[in-house]
Amino acid sequence: MAKDPVCGMAVDEKKAAASTGYQGKTYYFCASACKATFQKDPGKYVTAETAGKKGCA
Ligand SMILES: [Zn+2]
Repeated sequence: MAKDPVCGMAVDEKKAAASTGYQGKTYYFCASACKATFQKDPGKYVTAETAGKKGCA
């Protein structure tokens, strides 16, 4: 399972509603709206994940 970096929900890679590549890594989303949010400011969500924060910002 992957984690939706926007809302923090667990997402099955095979059933993900949307996905995108960023800095060589693929991110999966529960909904296209989460992908759109991520793409507005991907660094914000990637940084939060790297820092080990949980859940939504
Ligand atoms: Zn989501």
